[in-house]
Parts: sequence; structure tokens; C-alpha cells
Amino acid sequence: MGRRPASDPERLAELVRASRSTVVLTGAGISVPSGIPDFRTPGKGMWEKVDPFEVAHIDAFRSDPARFWRFYRPRFAELGSKEPNDAHRAVAELERRGLVEAVVTQNIDRLHRRAGSRRVIEVHGSIETSSCAQCQAKYTPEEVENLFDDAGIAVCTACGGNVRPDVVLFGEFLPERAIAEAQELCENAELLLCIGSSLEVHPVAGLPAATLERGGEVALVTKGPTPYDGDAAVKLTGDVVDELGALLRALG
Ligand code: ZN
Repeated sequence: MGRRPASDPERLAELVRASRSTVVLTGAGISVPSGIPDFRTPGKGMWEKVDPFEVAHIDAFRSDPARFWRFYRPRFAELGSKEPNDAHRAVAELERRGLVEAVVTQNIDRLHRRAGSRRVIEVHGSIETSSCAQCQAKYTPEEVENLFDDAGIAVCTACGGNVRPDVVLFGEFLPERAIAEAQELCENAELLLCIGSSLEVHPVAGLPAATLERGGEVALVTKGPTPYDGDAAVKLTGDVVDELGALLRALG
């Protein structure tokens, strides 16, 4: 079963040109050149020395928000200081040219938006906003910095409730609307271009299947193996910045 995917950017360019509806799906790999390590890379990730299921769990936020923020505050500050790279910019350029309809991303770093992508579906949320768990008041990252009390807890100025980042924590469901939108986009896509994702984390892992079942093509730009290697029309395994640069050049 399966087939051997093509491995040249020219073939990917042909697919992009031929497709009337292309959706981009991105994971941690596209942000690695921006200096944001993929947390699955052993010894390099933000989860080193802590158990993510303990500190980044919704129960941890509820039971000990000070501890939760001790972990998250420096990490969010670091994430917020990162800049988009040429791979993010290439994706935005494809959208500007009318060649890409939308970007579905697992990343919370908001770098697609900052690179100029307009239709971005963030299925794991984003650091762009934080919300009061009680009254839902929204705060920008800069505003959150002014909310911390002496205990290191971000406190809502409107109601005194605890403020949390609008990212999906362990123990939480993914945002329903974003997932439904991503699912519909992928079902209707003639081409799903997956960049920097190992496609192992559900429900994102099921999105390429939705495209394939409706007769669409899947293309992969990622270094490691994915469950879709045997079904992909193209797989490019080089550096994401180089591969997407080559794609843009091949498109002319
Ligand atoms: Zn509030």
C-alpha cells in the first residue's frame, strides 16, 4: 500500500498551482528557526525538568495559580519576544498571492499573524490574549504584566478573578469552533500542505485523513516521520525555511 512521495519543491509547486483550495497546517517545526524549540525534542524543550501534566494542567491553574504563573510567566515573556522567520513569511506570501486559503496551526506563538497571515485558525489557542476565568475580561500580554499581585498571580482588575492565558491547557478540550473550522477547511481542501508537524497529536492528526478521504492531496514539509508518509504526494525533508523558499522560487 501507499506510494513513494515526490521529494522536489517543483512537484509541490505544481500541486499548489493546480489546487483550487489549499490549506496549510503547521506545527512546532515551523517556529524552530525563530528560536522556539519543539518541546518534543529531548533535552531542549520547555518541559525539561518539569512535568507538563502537573504544571500546565487546568487543575494546577485552579489549585495553585501562583505556581502556575511562576512556570508560565517567563515562558510567555520569552515566546512573546520571538520574531517570525522566512517560513512564516512564505506561508503569508502564499496567502497574499491567493494560493493559500487559510492556516491551521498547533502553535500558540502567534507568529503566523505577525508574519502577515490573515486567516489563522489556532487550534491550541494563542498567547495573544489572556482571560479572566470569572468574568472573561480579555487582556493583552502587555496588560497581563501589570496584573500580577505580590503572590505572583494575575488578578482581573474588573472582578478580582484569576486571569489565565487563552491557550489550551492539559486536561482541557480544544476550542470547539476552531476545530470545526479546521475540519471543514481540510475536508474541502484539494491540497493540504503540512509544515513542521509530526501529525501525531489529535485531533490535528486526523485532519490529513479528512482531506485524503475527499480525494484531496497531502504534501509534507517536515524532517521526521509522520503517519501520512505513505499517502503524501510530496514530502520535503530539508530545513523548513529552505524548502519553502524553494517552493516560492519554483512558483515564480
Ligand atoms: Zn474578571
